Amino acid sequence: MTNSDTIFTSTLDIEKLRKDFPILQTKVYGKPLVYFDNAATTQKPLSVLKNLEDYYKNYNSNVHRGVHLLSQQATDAYEQARKKVAAFINAAHDYEIIFTKGTTNSINLVASSFGKRFLTTGDEVLISEMEHHSNIVPWQLICEEKNAALKIIPVDNNGELIMEEFDRLLTEKVKIVALTYVSNTLGTVNPVRNIIQKAHAKNIPVLLDAAQAIQHIPIDVQELDADFMAFSSHKMFGPTGAGILYGKEKYLNAMPPYEGGGDMIKNVTFAKTTYNELPFKFEAGTPDMSGAIGLGAAIDYIQQTGIHAIQHAEEELIAYAYDQLSAIPSLRFIGNAKHRAGAISFLVGNIHPFDMGEILDKQGIAVRTGHHCTQPLMERFSIPGTVRASFSVYNTKNEVDALIKGIEKARKMLE
Ligand code: PLP
Repeated sequence: MTNSDTIFTSTLDIEKLRKDFPILQTKVYGKPLVYFDNAATTQKPLSVLKNLEDYYKNYNSNVHRGVHLLSQQATDAYEQARKKVAAFINAAHDYEIIFTKGTTNSINLVASSFGKRFLTTGDEVLISEMEHHSNIVPWQLICEEKNAALKIIPVDNNGELIMEEFDRLLTEKVKIVALTYVSNTLGTVNPVRNIIQKAHAKNIPVLLDAAQAIQHIPIDVQELDADFMAFSSHKMFGPTGAGILYGKEKYLNAMPPYEGGGDMIKNVTFAKTTYNELPFKFEAGTPDMSGAIGLGAAIDYIQQTGIHAIQHAEEELIAYAYDQLSAIPSLRFIGNAKHRAGAISFLVGNIHPFDMGEILDKQGIAVRTGHHCTQPLMERFSIPGTVRASFSVYNTKNEVDALIKGIEKARKMLE
């Protein structure tokens, strides 16, 4: 933690910070919006909105291909955004940062491309029971193609990985471990450092799905020694349609291209095509320029606020929410991990999550209900879905109090 972060930690003024997000002034059914659906997507600060407007108003042009001024400006801004991402996660090289459409796209890229190069009959891919569908299905597809097997690290009743099972499953047959850093449903923060160390002791690379970690936890990919990491711009105050795949140079260079098209080639003839160097080898076609540049602005916003300060404020708020929710008699938490971030999932009595969600919505409170794209996890807990409140730095204790009141109202109506 730097000194400036320490100062921010004690001085982060949430009411002032909320003014950066115009949508937070919105009324829903005449009530002030309480937005607790941040794991699905976060709201955007003015600086990001202005950045997008500036791009389209003043220098919209296709990147990498033009000699004219606007194209050079767009290219500079796009490459500048790549540098910001690299610095934010402390990648060793800018070219280890691949712009994608989002976490889903990043994981599909690795599953397909790494799988084609490194998987063969009898190999195994190790994931966990708490993965989002986007870190399950791409691996199922490639395992089917390559005759490989998908192995699953189970979770215990608290929603934590059973590490003895991880140790048992981490055999020489495993060619990659793909794991979520933070569970989007349970809020569990997984012991990824320990997992990476154990996998590396057997020369097995690890992909981290950081979709729910990047906006809550400071991440240094070199220090963690992650081999791949995927995340989405829209979940970290940036625009939709853009995301990142971080990959170590040695793996990215060894993997074949994922998609073919413009920009990813060095030379094309009908007889043979040669491929561009990193990162362009994995960026076929016109990229989401405004999305990437907007993500750069979102990273500026996080850096100015201080990721440590954000983490500290959110941890305090989650602890408060957890305490307040604990006092509701018929409420049970789904997931009770010791180390959590971002989200709290729960059920109240026998109230169906959808009914709870609708009653809260009428009070201006946005939560998400359902399986949260983690159906195997729902099966593990023998439930159809949960109510999930997920938090961001702009949320307040008053908003948590509104949630508690809303739940009490639902209890009176439905229990
Ligand atoms: N992984 C996790 C843990 C997620 O929470 C999500 C989205 O909720 C994804 C992957 C997919 O992200 P995206 O839809 O932005 O590609």
